[in-house]
Amino acid sequence: MKTTSSQSTRFHNLDTIPNWSISDANDIYQISRWGEGYFSVSEKGDLCVNPTRTENGPVINMMEILEEMKNKNIAFPAVIRFHDILRSQVTNLNKTFRSLIEEAKFTGSYFGVYPIKVNQMREVVEEIVDAGAPFNYGLEAGSKPELLAALAMNTNQNSLTVVNGYKDRDLLRLALLGNQLGRKVIVVVEKYTELLDLMEISQEVGVEPMIGLRAKIATKSSGKWASSGGDYAKFGLTITEILQAVKYMKSINKEHCLKLFHFHIGSQIPDIKTIKDSINEGARIYAKLYKEGAKLEFFDVGGGVGVNYDGTRSNSPSSINYTTKDYVADVVYILKQVCDLEDVPHPNIVSESGRAITAHHSCVITNVFGALEIGAATENFNTDKVVSENILVSNMRELTNDLNDKNYQDVYNDATKLKEESISAFKFGILSLDERAKLETLYWRICKRIVEIASRDEYAPDEILALKNQMAHQYMCNLSIFQSAPDTWAIGQILPVLPIHKLNEKPTELCTLVDITCDSDGKLDNFLSADGPANTIPLHKLTGEDYYIGLFMTGAYQDIMGDNHNCFGRLNELHIFCDDDDPTDFYIEEVIYGNVASTVLASLQYNPLTMAQTMKANIDTQVKRGKIRPREGVTLTDFYEGCLMSYTYLKK
Ligand SMILES: *Cc1c(COP(=O)(O)O)cnc(C)c1O
Repeated sequence: MKTTSSQSTRFHNLDTIPNWSISDANDIYQISRWGEGYFSVSEKGDLCVNPTRTENGPVINMMEILEEMKNKNIAFPAVIRFHDILRSQVTNLNKTFRSLIEEAKFTGSYFGVYPIKVNQMREVVEEIVDAGAPFNYGLEAGSKPELLAALAMNTNQNSLTVVNGYKDRDLLRLALLGNQLGRKVIVVVEKYTELLDLMEISQEVGVEPMIGLRAKIATKSSGKWASSGGDYAKFGLTITEILQAVKYMKSINKEHCLKLFHFHIGSQIPDIKTIKDSINEGARIYAKLYKEGAKLEFFDVGGGVGVNYDGTRSNSPSSINYTTKDYVADVVYILKQVCDLEDVPHPNIVSESGRAITAHHSCVITNVFGALEIGAATENFNTDKVVSENILVSNMRELTNDLNDKNYQDVYNDATKLKEESISAFKFGILSLDERAKLETLYWRICKRIVEIASRDEYAPDEILALKNQMAHQYMCNLSIFQSAPDTWAIGQILPVLPIHKLNEKPTELCTLVDITCDSDGKLDNFLSADGPANTIPLHKLTGEDYYIGLFMTGAYQDIMGDNHNCFGRLNELHIFCDDDDPTDFYIEEVIYGNVASTVLASLQYNPLTMAQTMKANIDTQVKRGKIRPREGVTLTDFYEGCLMSYTYLKK
């Protein structure tokens, strides 16, 4: 598998924080920056959720949710969804559009749609539709199953259902079914031939379609999804094709079916300048088409509003340099300005923000069940000199004695060289196993001391600082990043990670995280810090008590794209609502249990029943041979079947 590790020498210098307080936790983990006001730390050091972001609004302590999970015997890892955050995000986007439209004296209205590919889970879509109802907020579908869902979920006659993606005749027919029911279903033409098919089918059915035209605009985004825009984009019509489409529709007297102009330049757009450029270009095309006789009513700016995963508020790929309000203001004011200059009416505005709506509402909570320490065994191993010891070992011991504040770089170079030579010597049979162990033990002791010295030296060279990250502890987390955070692996996305308790205590260990898949890529070693990405994250020393960390902002794409690598299945899931009567209380509205092993195996064509029977037969045979006692045979059979029926993750 691929390795995407980006090396940085940055690390959190914990030595510079003498008196830890919860405000240091906020700095180290950047909670208020990525959290957008939804997360805070209690006096006791627990992470809390403020789902409405209002002054005297509800506050939910995450550790109380965990208490309730333990009482109910719900195992980790678990996805926790805050429905109230979803509602807040939907309301906020719609209210921002409304207020800026009013402020700008813009004469169109806002008809946003939620692209369900970002998180198709029924409860999520239901919550969004419900919260959006007062604003006629609709849905966007990009495939046949998504349209099936959207048609069933979005029954509001005043909101839009926008259909993107490549379409076959069934998909087009489904869209027209929506129109037959009096819904505003708009088919966005991505490919010229779709228009011809759509007109033919609508003729057969006897219902007029509502048509959108998606343009390949020239403005390109930077960031990880840049290829959604530009001449070589997968979707959309060229300017020539758009003109041809308008001409064709006029020729059959159906130009009034052209309702919407659409473009989408990619996801997680880091730089507001790109957004300004695309609105400008899009608005000009809209205006010219209007004058060509396509009296389009909707101007659809697609998705792409990013979120501040790494807290930096910069144009780095895991961040954005704008707020929702900046974005909305640009859409409204630039569109207005171009329309006024071109003397065409202000269209209604449609946007398809998915990530920005859903990212914050869910997180994954997991227990840390152990640590791998580099050079851990070095404390007690006997490295005393023996007679006729190999010279390489003696030299390494001398280096331990020589090491001081001034020469640590030289000692590091020499020790590293010695260690390399020792491997050759071992291969030639000159070094014994015991000698190799001694030499390596001495080497790691040296490295540990060098890291300590370098931490105090503000001019420490990069190579030595990198050593600090390389020697970090690996904390083992009960989860699979391929299931729960695929973008951290696939595209190097940073997600906020932090302990959800003990935030009033100073973390002392610099760590990377490893998951429980058997894949060396199953790790997290790219974290946010106040100054940009770092390869390690400060965590607390493991004491044997439960230690819980959360991966945050997993609500967009992560939740839904995860796969069953190593047969780790979907997670237990809790749906949390605020209690209207008590601002510090919450209730678990629903628990959706994750996959058990047999479900994951059955999806891969295994037959768990046959598997259990085969195992039972094998055990019985051993019983007959007298190798296993009958009573034990029964226990073993039950044990195997029990494992088949249990959660795929590690049991505590
Ligand atoms: C994926 C997609 C979206 C959603 O993009 P976000 O970046 O999540 O807002 C919107 N529209 C189209 C056409 C898409 O393909």
